[in-house]
Amino acid sequence: MRVLIGGGSGFVGRELTKLLKVKGHEVTIISRQPGPGRITWTDLESAGLPVCDAVVNLAGENILNPLRRWSESYRADVFNSRLKTTRSLSLSITSTPTPPHCWILITGIACYKANGETTYTEDSEWTPFDLWSQLVREWEEAGRLPENITKNTRQVVIRSGVVLGRGGGAIQQMLTPLWLGLGGTLGSGNQPFPWIHVSDLAGIISHSLDSTRVPASSQPEVFNGVAPALNTNRQFTQELGRVLKRPTLLPVPEFFLRAALGRDRAVILTQDQRVVPKRTLQSGFQFRYPDLTSALRQILSR
Ligand code: NDP
Repeated sequence: MRVLIGGGSGFVGRELTKLLKVKGHEVTIISRQPGPGRITWTDLESAGLPVCDAVVNLAGENILNPLRRWSESYRADVFNSRLKTTRSLSLSITSTPTPPHCWILITGIACYKANGETTYTEDSEWTPFDLWSQLVREWEEAGRLPENITKNTRQVVIRSGVVLGRGGGAIQQMLTPLWLGLGGTLGSGNQPFPWIHVSDLAGIISHSLDSTRVPASSQPEVFNGVAPALNTNRQFTQELGRVLKRPTLLPVPEFFLRAALGRDRAVILTQDQRVVPKRTLQSGFQFRYPDLTSALRQILSR
C-alpha cells in the first residue's frame, strides 16, 4: 500500500512510518521541508495528490512547546497549522481522479467536556464549549469529504489522548522535574489522565488502514485513541515515580500551571475527561500497552 502522511516527520509519524514499513508499505511524508521520501505542502497544492492508497494527517504546531510563551500568534499557529493542512488534504482527495481508499485524521479528545461524571465513547454527543473543543470541531469539519467522494474513500477520525512514548511527546517534559524530586500530581490529582502509548496510536492508524469494513454512512468513523485503563493523574504520577524510583510527593498547584503555560494550555493538563476506546476495542484492535505499568516500563527502560 502507498501511504501519504502529512506531518509524518513528527513524534507519532516516525512511529507510524516504522510500523508501516515493517508491514511492507511504501510511505511518503508531507513536510514543510523538502527531502528524500517527502513532498512539501506547496507541492501538494500545485501538483495535487500523488497517486496513493491512503492518506493520514498528523501535522500541527506543537501545543505544549515549553520554549514558546502562549500568545495570540502561537494560538493562531496551533489552529492554522492543523486547519490548513487538513483542508489541503481533503480538497486534494476530492479533486484527484484516483482517490485513496482511506483518509485518516488524528484529532484530540478535547471535544469531550470534562464534568467528572460522564464516560465518553465515540458515540457520545458533544458541542464546542471552549477553545480546544472549538479547534476539534473546526479540524474535523476541515477534513470532511463531500458525500459523493465517500463512496470511494473511507473517512476515519482518531481522537487521541496524551501520547506517551520513548524520545518525544509529553513525557519528556515530565521527566526533568521528577528527576529533581519536584514531580507531583497536577491540580487535585483526581482528574482522569487519558493517555495512549505511541505504538498503540500508530497501531490504531494501521489497523484502520487495513480495515475493509464498508462504512455505515458517509460520516467519518470515529475511534477514541486512549488506553483502556482509566487512570487518574495521581495514579499516573505515582506509577511514573515508582518506575523511575523518584519521589512524587509535592502536588503541582493549578495556579502554578496557569502561570507556567498560560490559562488556555494549563487546561489541557488538568481537565477531567473520562474517555474510553469502545469502538476501537469493538473493531478488534488489541492494545500492546493497555495499562500504565507496561507502558511506562517500555518507555523508561534503558
Ligand atoms: P509533532 O509535534 O511531532 O508534529 C508533527 C509534525 O507537524 C511535525 O513533524 C511537523 O512536520 C508538522 N508541523 C509542526 N508545526 C507545523 C506548522 N506550523 N505547520 C505545518 N506543519 C507543522 O506532533 P505529534 O506527532 O506529537 O502529534 C501528531 C498529531 O496528533 C498532531 O496533530 C497533534 O495535535 C495530535 N495529537 C497529539 C497528541 C500528543 O500527545 N502528541 C495528543 C492528541 C493529539 P514538518 O516539520 O516536517 O513540517
